[in-house]
Amino acid sequence: MMRKKIVAGNWKMNMSPAKAVALIGTLKDKINVTDVDVVVCPPYVALPAVLEAVKGTNIQVGAQNMYFEESGAYTGEIAPDMLVELGVKYVIIGHSERRQYFAETDVTVNKKVKKAIEHKLVPILCVGESLEEREQGITIDLVRLQTKVALKDVAAEDAKGVVIAYEPIWAIGTGRTATSAQAEEVCKAIREVVAEIYSQEVADAVRVQYGGSVNGANANELFNMGNIDGGLVGGASLKEEFVSIVNY
Ligand code: PEP
Repeated sequence: MMRKKIVAGNWKMNMSPAKAVALIGTLKDKINVTDVDVVVCPPYVALPAVLEAVKGTNIQVGAQNMYFEESGAYTGEIAPDMLVELGVKYVIIGHSERRQYFAETDVTVNKKVKKAIEHKLVPILCVGESLEEREQGITIDLVRLQTKVALKDVAAEDAKGVVIAYEPIWAIGTGRTATSAQAEEVCKAIREVVAEIYSQEVADAVRVQYGGSVNGANANELFNMGNIDGGLVGGASLKEEFVSIVNY
């Protein structure tokens, strides 16, 4: 089973619309791979400008979050239809920073995954353990549980299109990358739990990314592991280095 690799840049709370357009200008001529899905995820307010700036390139656009209701009295939130209308194709769901600072739980993550699928947005579902949890030896149990709850009531055909990002929290923004063996072990466990929930066919189709201090120097080794289908990249996606990750 050949899965297409997917490399996504999570810009977090960086890049005004003007800065975002400038960054796309730096990246776009250097990113010409067609065998890798390349996605950038700017802040909401930069989405229209970035969607315009990537026209005619292979760069696709995702949001960093969305709400699980259609519309209404949810001050400060963004509805799936709003993203779809702009032309957004992907949405990061349940990033550890959202779980940590904005009280997202496996249950709200599940609601968002289902809502994204309903609107034909591709969820990039984030899972991963803290350092304390790793040291306690519960990484695999925890990531299995996060994956199971996030995919609750998601149909098999829909699950095939979900991208799952394994992001150990201790590796995010710390410069401390998981070894390729550590990353592969958990990405393999994620694929196994998907096979248990659905089937081997679904597990073979699902793309599992690694995220956590991916850079131009370590991307090649990580993305060549059997169960790692690309990466979710934070810091290094804000600069030209993103090109060398995409062209790993
Ligand atoms: C992330 O936040 O998704 C991430 C992987 O960040 P960084 O690459 O900066 O560790």
